[in-house]
Amino acid sequence: MNMDVISLGELIAEFVRVHRGVMHDVADLYMGPFPSGAPAITIDSAARLGLNAGFIGVVGNDDFGHMIINRLRRDGVDTLRVIIDNDSITGLAFVAYDQSGSRRFVFNLKWSSSAKLTPSLINPDYFTGVRVLHVSGSTMYIGKGPRDACIKAMSEARRRGVLVSYDPNVRVELMSINDTRELFLNSLRLVNVLLISEEEVNVLMGGGGALENAIKLLNKGPEIIVVKRGVNGSFAVSRGNQYHEEYAFEVNEVDPTGAGDVFNAAFIYGYLKGWGINQILKFANAAAAIKVTRMGPMEGPGGINEVLELMRKGKQRGVK
Ligand code: ATP
Ligand code: MG
Repeated sequence: MNMDVISLGELIAEFVRVHRGVMHDVADLYMGPFPSGAPAITIDSAARLGLNAGFIGVVGNDDFGHMIINRLRRDGVDTLRVIIDNDSITGLAFVAYDQSGSRRFVFNLKWSSSAKLTPSLINPDYFTGVRVLHVSGSTMYIGKGPRDACIKAMSEARRRGVLVSYDPNVRVELMSINDTRELFLNSLRLVNVLLISEEEVNVLMGGGGALENAIKLLNKGPEIIVVKRGVNGSFAVSRGNQYHEEYAFEVNEVDPTGAGDVFNAAFIYGYLKGWGINQILKFANAAAAIKVTRMGPMEGPGGINEVLELMRKGKQRGVK
């Protein structure tokens, strides 16, 4: 089967604090395990929207690993290239929200099965017929093996004319900002579509406004820069400095983790369908808004109709 989109990287069992404002240094309730990992969320969401999607990664031979594989399979993701490793434990993430809604993570990734992703697991044959390779920077922050695997995958994709989409998904818990910035700027030459949050574009570009930073990035490789702005929606700039913007949908926020990765899947979907950029942004805002209303990082829209319905019936902030 020819794949529309493939990705690689961490597969994580995630636990989310039940009560907002309770951080990780006291005893209280967590909910989970939820299947997670930024690139896996994008791929699972893409499959749920109806794309042929596949994933390359490593889980431990434990209940968490089996839970994640079962979930990806249930949603139609090709998991033939997900390895079950007997000598490591599936990656773990714990998430807490403080009162202002900002997140704190505790990760076990560098010492987990996710760190066992290496270039040898990237078989160039898998790229035949693929239309998009999606890469998350979060994978590259785990260690040398995963980083080299991502660079090999991106280089292979570019060599074969496969479109590369990239989300830096900055994780200060895994890599310093200075190292992250260097890696980001070095990776851009391999990227066609950059999907980045407003905060990230400003941090990685050393301050300034998101629009001016996005325009600067157009000179570094990508042909389109998409900036995700949380409750403010998203905008994109493309070659020739064309500007597009869409407001977010008004929804009840329950758990925003994963919204960016669901957005990425929806953006890729619209891009592959050849839609106009504004229509894609609106669709991706709607898909991500659905995710925000649900607990668990991978719990975005179950299918395309749900997204189309929110686009029809939902209210966009700032639009009368
Ligand atoms: P994450 O890394 O947590 O997955 P992100 O930081 O990459 O997310 P955000 O900008 O927070 O990305 O969210 C992605 C998209 O989700 C936004 O562009 C917006 O469309 C939608 N979104 C996020 N938060 C909300 C919200 N509270 N209400 C409606 N839509 C939202
Ligand atoms: Mg993100």
